[in-house]
Amino acid sequence: MQVTVLYGPRDVRFEERPDPTIVEPTDALIRLPVSCVCGSDLWPYRGIATIDGPTPMGHEYVGIVEEVGSEVRLIEPGQFVVGSFFASDNTCEICRAGYQSSCIHRQPGAPTGAQAEYARIPLADGTLVATPGLPPEDMIPSLLAASDVLGTGWFGAVAAEAGPGKTVAVVGDGAVGLLAVLAAKQLGAERIIAMSRHESRQRLALEFGATEIVTERGEEGAARIKDMTDGLGAHSVVEAVGTQEAMMQAIRSTRAGGHVGFVGVLHDVEIPGEEFFFSHVHLHGGPAPVRRFLPELVDLIWNRKIDPGKVFDLTLPLEEVAEGYRAMDERRAIKTLLRP
Ligand SMILES: [Zn+2]
Repeated sequence: MQVTVLYGPRDVRFEERPDPTIVEPTDALIRLPVSCVCGSDLWPYRGIATIDGPTPMGHEYVGIVEEVGSEVRLIEPGQFVVGSFFASDNTCEICRAGYQSSCIHRQPGAPTGAQAEYARIPLADGTLVATPGLPPEDMIPSLLAASDVLGTGWFGAVAAEAGPGKTVAVVGDGAVGLLAVLAAKQLGAERIIAMSRHESRQRLALEFGATEIVTERGEEGAARIKDMTDGLGAHSVVEAVGTQEAMMQAIRSTRAGGHVGFVGVLHDVEIPGEEFFFSHVHLHGGPAPVRRFLPELVDLIWNRKIDPGKVFDLTLPLEEVAEGYRAMDERRAIKTLLRP
């Protein structure tokens, strides 16, 4: 099959590799009707995260099950399934507590790469959620969004304790930040402040349920949030970037006793101890346990209650995946959808 492989910074190739096969009896093989590029793929693409030799890319996936291993009981060939970036057994104590992305048997969700035509999914019974039937074509991008960016934005909003009566601020206007806005809306937040300076992203944030937009960032952004909340700060802040500036913007935008949900992958972030100590802010986040939310997210999408697939604003043929990375790197696209 043809698969996307990252060789080094800005060196994305689409090349022939052997078709994936069942390796473990708990594996499933799925055919990928679409795939996509993630904001987190840009870290190794930009050389900020290092890779260990040529690496098959893509960790967000939906697909049609082609084959399952001999120990798979719940997932069957022909089903349409949604998974996530970590495979999990969904039965261990950590999974049952809702932290499937720290499963004691955790492994990469699509080790053969999901920017491809087929993928091998480990721990199929625990990892995959089947949809009620084959989805209509126009619903597939939304289900793909559930696989990572929606699930991650959702976790950010849950970790920030977004809910009725709350003012929620979202730092970051990438796909995850925008979908954290959608999540906050679904969770019943009263005010949702999207922090963005890009007009097309502001528009989508408003469509997803933002009630206000703040264009300032850093210190100024935090000061603006305080101004808008009687000097207190937001109850809930989602940090969906992962940089020092974004994390401090989030903490400083939160009121005493409030919650920051951080879901941007942190790179070299240091939190000053004394400031944090006196902030009285709760911090919770990390790799989103998307599997916890998948049944609910699939249901919302299936019943057309939400349309997270709107974050895909560029569609390319799979073989033009390198251009998909470039467009996101240059912020010409929020998120690239790839069609084989
Ligand atoms: Zn587990």
